Amino acid sequence: MLNNPPLTPPMIKEGENRMAYVGRFAPSPTGPLHFGSLITAVASYCDAKAHQGRWIVRIEDTDIPRIYPGSEEHILRAMDAFAFESDTKIIFQKDRLDIYESVIEQLQQKNLVYACQCTRKMLGSNHIYQDTCRNLGLDFKDQAIRLKVEDVEICFEDRLQGRHCSHLKQDLGDFILKRRDGIINYQLAVVVDDYLQGMSHVVRGADLLDNTERQIYLGQLLGYPRLQYMHLPLAMNDQGQKLSKQNLAQALDLSQAPQLLLQALKALHQDPIDLDTPDRMLKQAVAQWDVEKIPHTTMLQGHYL
Ligand code: GLU
Repeated sequence: MLNNPPLTPPMIKEGENRMAYVGRFAPSPTGPLHFGSLITAVASYCDAKAHQGRWIVRIEDTDIPRIYPGSEEHILRAMDAFAFESDTKIIFQKDRLDIYESVIEQLQQKNLVYACQCTRKMLGSNHIYQDTCRNLGLDFKDQAIRLKVEDVEICFEDRLQGRHCSHLKQDLGDFILKRRDGIINYQLAVVVDDYLQGMSHVVRGADLLDNTERQIYLGQLLGYPRLQYMHLPLAMNDQGQKLSKQNLAQALDLSQAPQLLLQALKALHQDPIDLDTPDRMLKQAVAQWDVEKIPHTTMLQGHYL
């Protein structure tokens, strides 16, 4: 069992440089990939490769009830169709539940988590948890597990969005690491795997900006090094909503991979590339990659499907 904090990252070989760039694309299979996911995949890939880094695909499938049938296969087929090659074997978080449980144990030993029996109804409309169960000393079995947050402000410099800060206690409150139904929360799994896979950089959509302080804080408690973050502007539909599975964004048509790659790079304001096979297009996109050209906003202009 991995019990001693911090967990040793098994995927980093002895002597390997932790400071080298390691990036990732970490989709949740809650629906097929859409154009917004492609933007994240392209940007994370080009940024890693332009830094001579490694790029890893990870499937974030701990929320088993929300897995959409067939979407894992669609993601894997999309990786092939767009010539996105993961530099390590693709991992699936649902195969790693014992690792996340062992991290909860570590936090429990340090008295940094507690069992919570509050239902969603009891929490009311204010989503900031009011510490109802913090000092009740409830048994951990079959309860949600919350992380105690301190009354501190966490800030980070986002490579596109600039400085971003949250007061943990006032703005966010104690947050769930494991749900009462046993599902490991994204916040925990993402922090643990980014560390264990030796990640140095996170490139993802600006919809996840507000999660970052929680993740930095949890990483700090576990003694993990801090990552560099870049939150990309989101592609919006004609209703002004971000493209998402919930908003019924169109699944990527894998037979149109070259055209879609062109569009994704255009959406990121990169210099035009030639229409070619996806592997050659990606090579050219990496050679021309310029972060400064990406709009430093949280939303892209224009409409996408
Ligand atoms: N799995 C998350 C999603 O698909 C992304 C996680 C991340 O990039 O940190 O929205």
